[in-house]
Amino acid sequence: MVYLCFATNNLNKIAEIGQILGDEFKIQSLNDIGCFKELPENQDTLEGNSLEKAQYVFENFHTSCFADDTGLEVKALEGDPGVMSARYAGLQKDSNDNIELLLKNLLNIKTREAQFRTVITLITPEGVNQFEGIIEGEILTSRRGNQGFGYDPVFQPSGYSKSFAELSMEQKNMISHRALAFRKLVNYLKANPVS
Ligand code: IMP
Repeated sequence: MVYLCFATNNLNKIAEIGQILGDEFKIQSLNDIGCFKELPENQDTLEGNSLEKAQYVFENFHTSCFADDTGLEVKALEGDPGVMSARYAGLQKDSNDNIELLLKNLLNIKTREAQFRTVITLITPEGVNQFEGIIEGEILTSRRGNQGFGYDPVFQPSGYSKSFAELSMEQKNMISHRALAFRKLVNYLKANPVS
């Protein structure tokens, strides 16, 4: 059995990667390895933030680990909210406020293309590797559906007539940015076993 830390306490993410990884890996959360601190996220790119989080765990807890960072990148807004996705409307604001601001900033704008992008950084004694998952789509003009979280009600993936929030969790997890990045990570781990 290989133990690997996922630098998160989000149990949904742990369950999602656990399903893709199968039985040979045991994924540990931050709490599982005794890390109860908020991880640093001071960089201005997804690559930088996921690297910073993974490095923090590797250096302080001496265990192989991976960290993720995700952003919604909107073409007409030059890639915003991007790395600021969680805090787009401000530190004290929630997903509803973020969506509100996004729709306001896209008011009367016809170009609605956007993508979710996830970057995962894996650090093992052998070195650092990054994996990217992207799903393209568009920003709707109003909210639809009540599944999921974050920007799901206003993001419609290309080739679908439903928003992420109208898809079941299983459907979303088959195609999502995170699932794509997770699958790349899993393929790498299977080809390059962590000792
Ligand atoms: P995180 O890096 O996974 O914490 O994601 C940062 C922010 O991006 C979240 O707080 C959400 O606002 C947004 N986000 C990430 N993944 C998704 C998703 O699958 N659906 C909707 N919003 C997401």
